[in-house]
Amino acid sequence: MAYPAPVEHLVEAFERLPGIGRRSAERLAFHVLRDPSSRELARAIEGALDDARRCDICRNVCSGERCAVCSDPERDEGTVAVVEEPRHVEALERAGVFRGRYHVLMGAFHPTDGTEEHHLALDSLLERLRGGEIRELILATDPDREGEATARLVLEAVEGLGREDLIVTRLARGLPAGSAIEYLHRGVLEDALEERRPLRRRRP
Ligand SMILES: [Zn+2]
Repeated sequence: MAYPAPVEHLVEAFERLPGIGRRSAERLAFHVLRDPSSRELARAIEGALDDARRCDICRNVCSGERCAVCSDPERDEGTVAVVEEPRHVEALERAGVFRGRYHVLMGAFHPTDGTEEHHLALDSLLERLRGGEIRELILATDPDREGEATARLVLEAVEGLGREDLIVTRLARGLPAGSAIEYLHRGVLEDALEERRPLRRRRP
């Protein structure tokens, strides 16, 4: 027996969220239907979708067309740190150890958790790299399993571009395994950046 169409649509919408199976989707849908504050949730989702923008260049969340980092002429355009989430940009900015620019993938490659390649801001990164101004790409994804898989995915995509002059580096090993960049101290982040290791060197 099927649910009425509007209820079925709601269940299916929840089912598309990462880590949510059919049973959980049904539970969430019926919770929403009986909870009087659900309209507020619906408005908050609509408001965020309407008003929170992604930077045209680095895909970080921002309120205008470009984020503060991409609008800052003092930041080095030639060096770009690829990070998973906006909170990783916040961590690096707070530490004040990086003067380049960013690219925010908006997730880590984790198919079993529902985050697949097409969810990540990979196409916009390749588009930026085609421009030729970026000399070095620092893969600053987390030093955990998903972060490593994401770094490999980015590296493979970049290899397909045919940009022989591009240097690709990874944050130094020595970061606590399985740690998250956002929780690291300034000194650790600084060392990881300074001692970054090449995954791909400039080819003459
Ligand atoms: Zn930006």
